[in-house]
Order: sequence, then C-alpha cells, then structure tokens
Amino acid sequence: MYGAIFGDIVGSSYEFRETDKTKLFRLFTEESQFTDDTVLSLAVAKSLIEAGPGGDETAVKEKLVNNLVNFGKSFPDARFEEHFKTWFEGETHEPYDRLDNGAAMRVGAAGWLFDTVERTREVARWTAEVTHSNPEAVKAAEAIATVIFLARNDWNNATIQHFIQREFGYELTRSIEDLRTDSAADDSCANTVPQAIRAFLEAEDFEDAVRGAVSLGGDTDTLACMAGTMAEAKFEIPQDFKEEVQERITQNMGKLLADYENIVRKLEERRDVLLQIHNFSEEHSKELLVPVLNALSIRMRAGCLFFMPVELPEEEVAKLSEKIPKGNVIPLARDLHPQRRSIATNDGKRWLAAFTSVSEGNKGDAETYYVGEPISFTLQACMQIQDCAGVVINAWGERFFFTREMIEVFLSKKEPEVQDDQAER
Ligand SMILES: [Mg+2]
Repeated sequence: MYGAIFGDIVGSSYEFRETDKTKLFRLFTEESQFTDDTVLSLAVAKSLIEAGPGGDETAVKEKLVNNLVNFGKSFPDARFEEHFKTWFEGETHEPYDRLDNGAAMRVGAAGWLFDTVERTREVARWTAEVTHSNPEAVKAAEAIATVIFLARNDWNNATIQHFIQREFGYELTRSIEDLRTDSAADDSCANTVPQAIRAFLEAEDFEDAVRGAVSLGGDTDTLACMAGTMAEAKFEIPQDFKEEVQERITQNMGKLLADYENIVRKLEERRDVLLQIHNFSEEHSKELLVPVLNALSIRMRAGCLFFMPVELPEEEVAKLSEKIPKGNVIPLARDLHPQRRSIATNDGKRWLAAFTSVSEGNKGDAETYYVGEPISFTLQACMQIQDCAGVVINAWGERFFFTREMIEVFLSKKEPEVQDDQAER
C-alpha cells in the first residue's frame, strides 16, 4: 500500500502539467499531497479486510460500496473524478460506463490478500464492478492486481509480461522512452494501465518505477500510483519513503494503513517457505510441519519455482546461446539435456536436490547450473524416479526433507491443510 500512496503523492505535483517528460524531477514539492488514488486504495483495502478472505461477491461488493461512499464523502478535496463524485453523492450507486482509471488505481490490496491468481482476479473484478460497468475498466483493475500477485510470487519480468499480454491483450513492448513521445495525452485506462505496467517492468528499483511513470506526463499521480503499487511487490521501498508517506496522510489513514500492512505481513509469513522451514527446524513437531506444507502448497499453486541443480555435459554448455557461468540458471531448450543432481544421506538414501532460490543453492561448494521449474514438476518427477527417497529442499542451508510418503499425500490434496491464520483475520 505504501507504493500506491507514495506514487500518488509524488505524482500529485505533476498531474496534467506541461513537464519536460524526464525522470529527473524533485520527488516532493510544496504541493505534494495525497489525492483520490490514496483515499480509494485505502477504502478498497478496508473493504477487503472487512469482507474476509472467503467473502462472496455480495459481501465484498456491499463493503466496497459502503466504504467508497464513506471515504468519498470524508475527503471532499481529494480531486475525485467527476463521475465517481456523482456516484458516491447519489442515492443509488449504480455503476457507470466510463474508461477512466478509477478502478485500476485503487485495486492494489486485492493483489496482496489472496493465495491464488484466480481468487485475486475475481476479487479485483468485484472491486471494479461496483463503480465501472465498462469491461475495459474492469479488465484494467484485474490486470494490475494480477501483476502484483505474480511479482510477489517471484515471477520474473519476462514471464509476467508474457502472462499479462496473453490474458489481457495489452501491448507491453514499447519502452517508456518511446511512450513519452506520444503527444496527445490519452488518459483512458486502456492506454495508461499498460504504460504503468511498462514502468514497472522497466524499473531498476522502486523509485525508478515511480519516476518512469511520472516521466510519461498526463495523469501522473494515477500513473505513479499504479506503477508504485506494482513495484512494491517486487522491490523494497526505502524506509525514508515510508516515513514521507506517514507524514503526509491523516492519522486515521495512518492507522488503517498500519492495520492493513500488519495483515499482509502475517499473510506473507504464512506463505514464506524459508521462515516456516526455519521454525520447523527449531523443533521438529507436527504443529510446525503443517505450516511448512501449507507454505509449499500456497507457493506451488501460485506458480512458484524450485531451482534444481543440474549437470550439463561440456558439449551442451557450448550450445548455450550466451556464455553463462556456473551458479546461474540456464534456459530450457530443446537441444539441452541437463541431468538433475541428487544428494545421498548417510543412510544411503538418494534425494532430489531443490532450492527455493539460486542463492540458497550457491551456499554449497559445488559449482553447478540450475534450471527453474514449477514446484509441482519437481515433486512429480521425484515420484517417478524409483528409489528416490524424496526431495531435499535447501540442502546447504536450513534443509527440509520432503519424503516420498509426504509428497504423495501432499500432491493428492488441493487446498492447504489448515487455514487457521487466515481465519483469524
Ligand atoms: Mg489522483
């Protein structure tokens, strides 16, 4: 949420101004302030928390209408878009057929609160549909929440770009530099949302995503809010940026922001395989095993990868399109036949080695290549290899022996075993 608000505040001084379309500008001016993007992002976050993780369409939409109306009325100076203003001031709150960014700029929370891409997309659509009847405006919100979901699950840029292009039909190949040359400011979401995604894809760090978005000109607070909310899922936000945000929002907003961040932090801990393995390795109890399996299940369903150390014969190394030093991931290609490496334990059992990241793998001394593969592939591969005792995860750090028997049960279950932490919300 900090990313969205920071982007909004930074972009607010440059909205629809003649600027020289550059990344070199002062982040904060005397005019920097939060606008509708911040107010409504918080309203959506509050609604989704109130509706709970399993809230149905009616419950979620009821909370949304309630909060969007209340927040609209509570912040008369937040520069609301005129149709939205009419919507919240009216009696009936019927959705309107507009192509503005109103639905896309406020959707951020939907990208963080759910464990599957399907649920994320469904809730993102609902957050849009309460005000926007235009399918393009709804799609825009769904796309932004999807980028957040994928990025926080460590999907790389190329895969995110491919997925978003395929699912939403956006053209994402034009660079920020090229997009800046467009003269007429088309601020419909069909134009601005792909631009914000591009600012996210090109960014070197969080600040660069916000600067890239503002450098496009036009509706800069909304562009930077959207780029910022996505960039937060991929990059650290510097602490002093968070402090700038805290100083520029009201006390009540600060309280809501802190509550929301706390909920997200707890969810992220629940999804954190390394953390759960760490807890389990302190005390090998059944109570601490379940969270490990849950975290693995959530990550598996989110399309996360294991990094498998592999042997690649010398003659095949020569086939790599570019020279890749050992200790890195090699691309999967038809003419490459990397062999999985296994590890033997003292009892003579052999285990497939899998790492949650390349840096975990490189903690060992053997120099090796890696391939990234979906977690489910690794587990299924293990089941197909005779005499394979299971998969050892992060063999050189705090390791977890995922036995063949456990994997068999694990793969037969679709949902995580316990949802207690989520139910507590
Ligand atoms: Mg605004």
